[in-house]
Amino acid sequence: MIVVKVGGSLGIDYDALCADIAELWKAGQRLVLVHGGSAETNRIAEALGHPPRFVTSPSGYTSRFTDRETLEIFEMVYCGKMNKGIVERLQRHGVNALGLSGLDGRILEGKHKDSVRSVENGKVKVLRGDHTGTVERVNTDLLELLLSSGYLPVLTPPAASFEGVAINVDGDRAAAAVATALRAEALLLLSNVPGLLRDFPDESSLIAHIPASDVESGLEFAQDRMKKKVLGAAEAVAGGVGRVVFGDARIASPVRAALAGRGTVVS
Ligand code: ADP
Repeated sequence: MIVVKVGGSLGIDYDALCADIAELWKAGQRLVLVHGGSAETNRIAEALGHPPRFVTSPSGYTSRFTDRETLEIFEMVYCGKMNKGIVERLQRHGVNALGLSGLDGRILEGKHKDSVRSVENGKVKVLRGDHTGTVERVNTDLLELLLSSGYLPVLTPPAASFEGVAINVDGDRAAAAVATALRAEALLLLSNVPGLLRDFPDESSLIAHIPASDVESGLEFAQDRMKKKVLGAAEAVAGGVGRVVFGDARIASPVRAALAGRGTVVS
């Protein structure tokens, strides 16, 4: 079993990704795909007159402040345009893909965090009305049911809170939770960079390997959103996933390239 997470940043080649996944799937590889949609959500939110608001926590993590209206735009893009676009591509390649958000069948569940601490002009503010959380439980029964019936699950945030409220969760950490719950042998975190760069954005400064015993050392190099990926990788290896690869989703055969060790391998 492998879990592939593809981001939502600009430059990602979804056609190449889906063609590659289809070949692996047809060759018998069990696989779950998790995806993002950040760049498109930002674009649509701007167009709808509700521009995104990003907050930075005191510990330096950036996240999207998700009020109710933002959540609805987020769902339109992630569960709608992005999810169906990927499912359609896989269907065109003859794979019976089935797109679900974490809300559906409570595939992804976690605690709702209503407030977030945000550093603004050097001061810490508390913002309320946030619909965010972290995945704590994965409905593996439903995933196994789908996989054993020949469906390729294509998963996207939001997740369901324990009270059944939609919550925005980080896709990388959600994918790590899925990989851990399914005892995956590999988790591939594919984005619009070649991997973790020692000196971002210098692509020649790729870090080829990080020992599983010291994943957090990668945090030293990761800035803003890359930090969540490193955190997700640390959670996955701690949870027993054999190998995590930060790979490039802008290239041909991105999944097989990452499986072959192209990118940053955490093992
Ligand atoms: P996605 O939505 O594709 O999952 P993110 O935008 O969440 O991706 O994270 C990837 C981004 O992290 C890159 O596009 C890059 O701008 C940023 N980044 C920050 N620090 C690093 C680093 N050290 N190495 C690689 N990328 C980094």
